[in-house]
Parts: sequence; structure tokens; C-alpha cells
Amino acid sequence: MFSIPLEKAHISGRQENLAMKLEKTDILSAEEIAEEDIVERIFEAVIDQQLPPGTKLSESALCEAFGVGRMRIRRSLLLLASREVIELHANKGAYVASPSVKQAREVFEARLALEPTIARLAVQRATPEGIATLKEHLEMEFAAHRTNQRRDAIRLSGQFHTLMAQLAGNAVMLRMTKELVTRSSLIIGIFGAPGVTNCRDDDHAAIVDAFLSRDDKLAETIMREHLHHIEKHLDLEVQSKRSVDLVGLFRHPKNR
Ligand SMILES: [Zn+2]
Repeated sequence: MFSIPLEKAHISGRQENLAMKLEKTDILSAEEIAEEDIVERIFEAVIDQQLPPGTKLSESALCEAFGVGRMRIRRSLLLLASREVIELHANKGAYVASPSVKQAREVFEARLALEPTIARLAVQRATPEGIATLKEHLEMEFAAHRTNQRRDAIRLSGQFHTLMAQLAGNAVMLRMTKELVTRSSLIIGIFGAPGVTNCRDDDHAAIVDAFLSRDDKLAETIMREHLHHIEKHLDLEVQSKRSVDLVGLFRHPKNR
């Protein structure tokens, strides 16, 4: 589902952003790039909790905010819907997705079934280079947390999990993990407390230590506890409904 391999994604921050969050093709026309940009801005606003679940995305407000025509906004909304970031309702328009508590729990149930095994296999199969990459990635996560880059922290901690699946060397598991991590990022963005990200650095550090000591069972155990911890800290019951000024939110180019 992601076209940019993780190894390459480390090189470019912007590509890494897109690769982690959204499916995209390698070659885009100028018009499509503009749509990707709109898609990215809306996705980020959802992850940053500026657009709460259930917020109506009015086409006319988005046209005004991004300074583009209705067709381009519609295509952007279709892309977002295909990635389950928003929902389209016939005759009513587009709304920010509101994953149900049941859907959120299903995602974590699936992750618990899959990722502890991935952690075990990854320790058994990782090359020294692979372990070095994992350590480097952990440093990037620490840096994002130190500087309170919540969005980056969510993205990087998700990538830690897909990196594990890469190290396990199972393409089917990697694909499943990517899908689950993308869904989790949305769920965590929506249901996580504003100051809190999904993954504890400490847990990831403990998993890296298990790689260094080549303790596959330990990695499996820590991963299981880690996923339980993430799920437990989501506030699945609270979904705020407030009105959002879309034009004010998107009119100005973002500063990154
Ligand atoms: Zn994690």
C-alpha cells in the first residue's frame, strides 16, 4: 500500500510523511500533486485533532480555503474516503471519519494477533544492518518526543512497527502491518489525548534491547504488553463535536 520503501523514506522528511500516511503513486501530474497536498493537509489536521471525528467538510469552504475548484476538492475527498480518513454520505457530503469503538478495538485485536509473532520472527531473522536501522529509527522517535512533535511522533512510532515487519522478512505480514498501523494512526490521532502519542519510547527501546541480546521470546512478550498499553490509553468513549472554521484552518500555507 505504500510505494516508498522505508529505507528510502528515511532520507526525505516530506516523502516519508506521505509514504507513511497515504498511498500514492511515484509519478504524479501537477494537478494530482495539488490534490495530494490537499489530502495531506486534511489528513494532518485530523491527526492533529484540529478536525474532530464527525466534522462536516463543506465543499464550498474547502474550495475557498485551498483556492481550487469544486472538482479538485471532490477528487481529494474521494482519495481521503478511499483511505478511510473521511466518510462520504449520499446527499449529505463529507465528514471526518469517526471510527467506532468496535472498529478501534478490532484494529488492536488484529495487531495483538499479528505483531508479537512478528517481533519474535524479526529477532530471529534480522541482520546486523537491520538492527542498526532499527536503532537509528528509535533515535528519531526520541527526538520527535523531545521536541513535542506529536504528529511526527505518531508517524515515527508507527514506522517502528512496520520496520519490525520488514525485519521479519514476511511480505504478507508487512502488508497487514502497514494497513493496521495506518488505521491505528488515525485512531490514535482521534482518540489519543492531545499530549500523548501511541507508543512509549521506553517500550520501543526495550524491544531494540531484545534484538541486541537476540532474545526472541522477550521481544514477543514486550510487543504484546506494548500493544495492550496503547489500547488501554485511548479514550474510546469521548468524541468531541465542535464546529470548525475550515477556511481559517486551511487558508494559510502551512509552516513546516
Ligand atoms: Zn509502538
